[in-house]
Amino acid sequence: NANPSSMFDEGWLKRVYEEKPVKEVRTRFPPEPNGYLHIGHAKAIAVNFGFAKHYNGICFLRFDDTNPEKEEEAYFTSIREIVAWLGFKPHQITHSSDHFDRLYELAEELIRRDKAYVCHCTKEEVNLQRGGPDNRGKRFGCAHRDRPIEESITEFRNMRDGKYAAGEAHLRMKQSLTDPNEGNPQMWDLAAYRVTKNKEHARTGNKWKIYPTYDFTHCLCDSFEDISHSLCTTEFFLSRTSYDWLLEVLDIKKPKSDEKGPMQREYGRLNVAGTILSKRRIQQLVQGHSVKDPNDPEKTIKTIPPAVRGWDDPRLFTLVALRRRGIPAPALLSFVSELGVTDALTNIQIVRFEAAIRKYLERTVPRLMLVLDPILVVIEDLPEDYEEVLTVPFDPKKPDGDSRKVPISRKIYIDRADFREEDDPNFFRLAPGKTVGLLNAPFLIKATSFEKDENGKVTTIKATKVPTEAEKPKAFIHWVDGASGIDVVARQYNTLFLSDEPNTLDWKEGGYADNFNPNSEVSYKEAKVEKALGDLMSKHKEHGMDKEKASDDLVRFQAVRTAYFCVDLEKEDGKVVLNQIVTLKEDKAK
Ligand code: ATP
Ligand code: MG
Ligand code: MG
Repeated sequence: NANPSSMFDEGWLKRVYEEKPVKEVRTRFPPEPNGYLHIGHAKAIAVNFGFAKHYNGICFLRFDDTNPEKEEEAYFTSIREIVAWLGFKPHQITHSSDHFDRLYELAEELIRRDKAYVCHCTKEEVNLQRGGPDNRGKRFGCAHRDRPIEESITEFRNMRDGKYAAGEAHLRMKQSLTDPNEGNPQMWDLAAYRVTKNKEHARTGNKWKIYPTYDFTHCLCDSFEDISHSLCTTEFFLSRTSYDWLLEVLDIKKPKSDEKGPMQREYGRLNVAGTILSKRRIQQLVQGHSVKDPNDPEKTIKTIPPAVRGWDDPRLFTLVALRRRGIPAPALLSFVSELGVTDALTNIQIVRFEAAIRKYLERTVPRLMLVLDPILVVIEDLPEDYEEVLTVPFDPKKPDGDSRKVPISRKIYIDRADFREEDDPNFFRLAPGKTVGLLNAPFLIKATSFEKDENGKVTTIKATKVPTEAEKPKAFIHWVDGASGIDVVARQYNTLFLSDEPNTLDWKEGGYADNFNPNSEVSYKEAKVEKALGDLMSKHKEHGMDKEKASDDLVRFQAVRTAYFCVDLEKEDGKVVLNQIVTLKEDKAK
């Protein structure tokens, strides 16, 4: 079922709605602005925005900006753009930091209710209290846990006023740490606030010296925004208990009831196998990596240069990269929708992703002829000034649909792969003495001779025209007119790594660099495409594409017998650059 709303009509999402069948559905997509979104986030966006849309509700885009050390303006911008590219419009863009004052007030209130305390233990001490490294030891509270409420209030204000350095004090929730029967680590006195100094926050500047944690912030911001269904991924399953606990102790929610306040539910993540999605690892690929001597962290023992051109390099699976590669947003959304939503992890192979994209492109984009590795063919029996302009439909299955003009003259280009110097009975394309069909052309050609350069590379084929009635060729090949064709650079992409499981490579000591696929990008710098690409580009139009849904104006096409391509944002040496979106058929070659 390709209907993008299908994932809401039945199954997990429908059951989640029925658990809390409110009139006004309110959801949020809450990224941390600490990196670029990846393909997995497309699912989170589709789930949250889609769920709200399906029930005529609203969805917020909330930046969970509680960690100024990791946040940058570029991430905010990119996330906003990607949500818009996917075709969603947030009801409102909010920030956890919009609520810092209110969160602070509630933290004091929590202390007053004897449900939080300022603690000065080190990380190691806290770990020990929580049962040691394997969480199996006896748990116990520290001396700060029982300090008077007034003292915690004073110390919390001291934290706020900058009297403590990072790590010297933190606010902890007084949950069930000391209850030997409480098996959920999310209830073992989690941190609510920590000290972060000397780091300017993108929105609140230097106002705050303390920042709230995810566990304290998320459920409260959900309640401030009246979120009805707070949908997140399954690694937060145990956090549901602490989420409800905090709302309950502040009387925002009633125990064991979802009637009042937000309700958290967890769905399975989307993972694409054979790629790298971890921010830290993509960063290594983008920026390069220097491996340090384990005995001397000052000393670099290996320097690995960047493996890709940037976060939007089409070989990556960040959403900016998929967009640049030419994956249409509606195709990505229907892929996510067809996978459906449950509470299990969805682990998808790249080939399956590409098959879904191909299926979409197949019925939406025009066809053009592109020659990757051209050889000049001179059709010697045509006059020097011969030119004929053919009218060819963009989609051969729709002969009455939109069409383009395809000139043909005495000189054309064909692909090197379609020519052999010596004929062979099993070879059906062009060879000396052999006739081949030219797609869309009014005649066939027969090769008579060819010329080579000093390196033995064929430079020119001489041919004669053969009337279509004269012979029935065994194959038709694509070609580009010599006089009117456009010079382009065409880039084909393959997997970045040779291994099918790049996540299992050695990322610490740099062993991953030995596994780079030398052919992850193959660039054809002399490629030629028919003139109609220029017309498509100037019209910024995609044949047959539903403009309501497509939220970018990239020019995509099927290069017949070759692959799907998209016009890149940048030129190379003044030439248009084409990115291969996907191959025409599933192919296993690396
Ligand atoms: P990562 O660590 O992979 O960058 P994250 O959890 O840090 O992801 P957030 O910025 O917190 O990313 O993500 C915002 C929302 O997207 C969260 O609700 C999170 O659960 C969801 N999300 C993140 N990764 C995936 C995924 N692979 N599949 C589905 N949803 C995801
Ligand atoms: Mg996160
Ligand atoms: Mg993130």
